[in-house]
Amino acid sequence: MHAEPMVASPGRLIEGAALAKRITADVADRVAALAARDVTPGLSVVLVGDDPASAVYVGSKERTCIELGMRGETIRQPATITQDELLAIVDRLNADPAVHGILVQMPLPKHIDADAIVRRIRPDKDVDGFHPVNVGKLWIGERDGFAPCTPSGVLYMLQAHGVKTAGAECVIVGRSNIVGKPMAALMMKPGVDATVTVCHSRTRDLGDVTRRADILIVAAGRAAMITADMVKPGAVVIDVGMNRIADATKKSGTRLVGDVEFASVREVASLITPVPGGVGRMTIAMLMANTVRAAEQLTAAASR
Ligand code: NAP
Repeated sequence: MHAEPMVASPGRLIEGAALAKRITADVADRVAALAARDVTPGLSVVLVGDDPASAVYVGSKERTCIELGMRGETIRQPATITQDELLAIVDRLNADPAVHGILVQMPLPKHIDADAIVRRIRPDKDVDGFHPVNVGKLWIGERDGFAPCTPSGVLYMLQAHGVKTAGAECVIVGRSNIVGKPMAALMMKPGVDATVTVCHSRTRDLGDVTRRADILIVAAGRAAMITADMVKPGAVVIDVGMNRIADATKKSGTRLVGDVEFASVREVASLITPVPGGVGRMTIAMLMANTVRAAEQLTAAASR
């Protein structure tokens, strides 16, 4: 009898859309439970200026809120708004009991101190999880804080696919406050229990480190920087990157790609996220989950 030649099968896809639907279905149930107590979770997004990408993100946040029975509001302000005027809007939202989640869309114009704006948001309404109080709560393991949405979505994806994280070597490429650092905190927290290594632009031999990973999470913003030779066979590969590259075959002249060279890495990985259709779909779903939890927590605190 001839042995069949060994043909490696491509890694299975982790589909963001199906998982995002699971999260929003749970959010919808929790919205209904709050409605029975006359509470409608409310998310207010402040959009400054007319950056087209920001307008698209903000539009889908508002739409998703409304689809789930929440109150979604976008406060549009011109790029000429002053720091004090923006702080006054945050103060008003902080004091409004109908607002449970506040998000100021980044980037802000250069004359605004973005850190000062984020620090002004009440931590218990900071559903983006960027306020230093929430960053601290994430690192010390206090559960009533908010973790940033994109890394939370990545952890959800891993857990939903039954990826064994305890004791696993997890390598994260990127150390931003939005993705890399909070991702590291989530992967090493008790209960998740991965052994985490974080890489950045000064990492000496990136491939040497990424090849150790059982779970490789890439958030560098460099198109197709992770090639198949940098990935251990059987690894789980999560691509957070979103890069627009030129593509003459597209009507827009551009195409969205991740940080991972998808076709070749899929041949090596056991599980992999596509771009688009992967991590990107999770971020808004997680924002909705954070907003409904903010409403639950604020309602519970008000009735104490
Ligand atoms: P960022 O603030 O620019 O951070 C990028 C990180 O990658 C930095 O820590 C940088 O190192 C590191 N890096 C850059 N080039 C590298 C290289 N050649 N080797 C090793 N490390 C390198 O970006 P970000 O906000 O974290 O976003 C990262 C990517 O994720 C972007 O493509 C962004 O569009 C995407 N993103 C997607 C979502 C989503 O919903 N899917 C959400 C957020 C972000 P240094 O610190 O040394 O500079």
